[in-house]
Amino acid sequence: MLEEHPISGALHALQGILEREKSRGQTHVALQSESESILEALPVRLMERAQKLKAVDCPVPPETVSSSKGEPDALAAVLASKPPRERTEEWARNELNRIFREVKSCETCRSLGTFRETIVFATGNPLADIMFIGHAPGAEDEKERKPFVGPAGEKLTQIIKAMGLSREEVYLSNIVKFRPKKGDGRFQGSSNRKPNATEMESCLRFIKAEVEVVAPKVIVALGPTAAEGLLERGGSISSLREQAHEFAGAPVVVSYHPSFLLRQENEPDQARAKASKRKVWEDMLKAMDLAGLPISEKQRGFFA
Ligand code: URA
Repeated sequence: MLEEHPISGALHALQGILEREKSRGQTHVALQSESESILEALPVRLMERAQKLKAVDCPVPPETVSSSKGEPDALAAVLASKPPRERTEEWARNELNRIFREVKSCETCRSLGTFRETIVFATGNPLADIMFIGHAPGAEDEKERKPFVGPAGEKLTQIIKAMGLSREEVYLSNIVKFRPKKGDGRFQGSSNRKPNATEMESCLRFIKAEVEVVAPKVIVALGPTAAEGLLERGGSISSLREQAHEFAGAPVVVSYHPSFLLRQENEPDQARAKASKRKVWEDMLKAMDLAGLPISEKQRGFFA
């Protein structure tokens, strides 16, 4: 959760004053130049935080607020019409679109000749606290051009809901942005394959750039292939999930891929399936903890 900042109180007070003035029919406020400077200097992180908390909605439309000099004043600029120069949702969307355009023109990816044509990029909140990363899209994801919409995606959606979140609140992506071909890809049907190390390497810079833009508080790497691609090291999930990792400045929790849980659900040994679900849930609690999300007693006790 976002911690309380001392300037929030002052901004609330300012909001109250502006709302009172508005209710009296005022459409303009006069600002001294020192006040303009103070507002201009409000740190970008604070504005971003205030936007997330919705603590400072501009009480009057920004274009109606101007200084006594008749110029657009600093209040309007800082509170609304001049958004933080960095890490606003709009900025993040633009940056992610820029990365998407780079994927489109990725010569290295194309020159491998092992990817299908359609790009499957990412979905979710461009400023999410939690980012889930899989290895590559499958047939259903390719059809919808969105990651994690097939059966594994449905399982992942259930897990996200159990965490008290929605798909729209988190960010979902893959290391590889194209469905890997099987053979020459012409008669592939719905059959999928995992990407190899060369394929993941060809796309790695995109997911790194996405992490830098979204700046999640935690990344969840789903399955051994995604973990290997991100961390550039092999190992069993059981050992990797016990260790602390980092990618592009964000902590990484390694967990089992949802398709592994689906496979186990169809096996006779249901005790094994339940044990894997419990482990996944432990990993999600770890991720929620790193993201500063509240965890209820019920959530802690799901597998008690
Ligand atoms: N679909 C995805 O988008 N990613 C995976 O890793 C698996 C299925």
